[in-house]
This record gives sequence, C-alpha cells and structure tokens, in this order.
Amino acid sequence: MSNLLHGKTALILGVANKWSLAYAIGRSFAREGANLVITYQGERQKLTVDELAAELSPTARAIQCDVTKPEELAALVDALQPGPLHAVVHSIAFANREDLSRPFSETSRDGFLLALEVSAYSLVAVSKAMAPLMTAGGSIVTLTYLGAVRVIPNYNIMGVAKAALEASVRYLANDLGPANIRVNAISAGPVKTASARGIKDFSKVLDGVAAHAPLRRNTDPAEVADTAVFLASELGRGVTGNVVYVDAGFQIMGL
Ligand code: NAD
Repeated sequence: MSNLLHGKTALILGVANKWSLAYAIGRSFAREGANLVITYQGERQKLTVDELAAELSPTARAIQCDVTKPEELAALVDALQPGPLHAVVHSIAFANREDLSRPFSETSRDGFLLALEVSAYSLVAVSKAMAPLMTAGGSIVTLTYLGAVRVIPNYNIMGVAKAALEASVRYLANDLGPANIRVNAISAGPVKTASARGIKDFSKVLDGVAAHAPLRRNTDPAEVADTAVFLASELGRGVTGNVVYVDAGFQIMGL
C-alpha cells in the first residue's frame, strides 16, 4: 500500500503475543509508515513484546500498561509527551474463565465488574488520558464482537461488556468530535487468539462462521488490521461513532 499513516504516531494497546489482533494491527500500521508505541499488560509479557516491537520497526517502543492501574496509564501519557498522538487502538478485554463457560445467570458480581472495568471502562479511561495529546485530531479504534448484540453461547459477560463498549464508542465520538477525534469500533469475526481460547467451545464458533458466513470462511487478522488502517488514516475522516463489521459478512445472516 502507500504510506497511509506516514508521519503519524500511533499507540496500540494490548499486544500479548504474535497472535494478538493488536500485533496484526501493528504490522499493518508499520507497513503504512506509522511511528509505533505498543503496550503490554505486565512484566510476564515484556520479553515477548519487546521482541515483537523490534520486528515491527526499529523505532517502535514497547511500554507496560495495565489499564486497571491509573499510575501506569499516567506513566504512558508521560512517555508519549509532548505528542502529537494521531491514533489509538484499544485491543484489550478480560473476563474470568469460569464466566465464559457456565450459564450467564451465574455470573458473579466481582466477575461482572471486572469484565466491565477491563473491557469497557478502560476505553473511556484511555480516551480521556490520550485526547489531550491528540492536538491535531485523530482516531481512536477499539475491538468488539457480535456477542454485544446477539447471544453467542458462552460469550456471556463479555457480550455485556462489549455492549457497554459499543455504547461508550458512541458517547465518546460525540464528546471528542469537536476536537476532530473520531471514535469507532471494529467488530471482528472470531479469530483464534489467547483470549478467544478462554471461551468454551470456541472452535464450534469458528466452524459455524466458516460454514454460514457469506464469504464461507473465517476472518483473517490482517483484514481487521487493514480496516484499522482505514479508520486511522485520512481515508476514514468522515467516519465516527460506528461499529464496522469485519467478519466475512457473518452478522447479516439469520440462519
Ligand atoms: P489477546 O489475548 O491477544 O489480547 C487481549 C489483550 O488484552 C492482551 O494483550 C491482554 O494482556 C490484554 N489485557 C487484559 N487485561 C488487561 C489489563 N488489565 N490491562 C492491559 N491489558 C490487558 O486476544 P485478542 O483476541 O487479540 O483480543 C484483542 C481484542 O479483540 C479484545 O478486545 C477482544 O475482545 C477483541 N476481539 C477478539 C476477537 C477474537 O475472536 N479473537 C473477536 C472480536 C473482538
């Protein structure tokens, strides 16, 4: 492609390993000439993510940021000073494994709050922290899933969290629009990643999509990543508050 993000600085939150959607997005952003800062959750991921950053580009930086720790978010803002920051990709979610296998009605209060904090509130916290650095306007993109609007077996509390995330996208888009900051979500089809493996019977979801999606196949992470490039680039300048489905068309199907 053609340097769609040349001269832009992009922050990508949520790289755990080479299968992470955040890493696929990093590869597409690097290809398009972005200056990259990627984040990982904790010390355990540091070595892997340092190596992945070096593979993305010689100038890419990897910084630790657990989004439930305000001091780590503040340190991330400091590391990005003086800006400007042009793009933020939020690719973070978490729910307790037991809440992704037992009936939804058995979700615990703690499990509910944890999933909502990490998977939805964190977008609000990150947007509030990063918007002041986005002095030339910009784009915030998060990752969501069909389970926000339909019942997907075992997705449970994560579906509720994604519904809150998608509503947050709309409210943030309205708040930040006057600063020319656009906020959108990509609803990705199922992809085998570390998080996805935590969902009971996830391989059945993959099989169902391959059998019934209009394109009769699953989603390639690079397709999600290239849509993130579109949203972060000038090409996406008129798009905000949206959920863009990159799912081989699966969401249009009734049966
Ligand atoms: P992943 O496990 O590679 O990424 C999830 C990331 O969230 C990890 O890097 C993890 O460390 C991070 N994270 C969890 N808690 C955190 C915290 N407290 N602070 C900071 N980071 C934290 O899996 P993925 O599938 O690439 O997930 C990325 C995003 O894509 C998630 O929002 C997920 O819900 C979404 N998504 C995934 C799929 C799929 O099928 N894989 C489909 C649609 C949407």
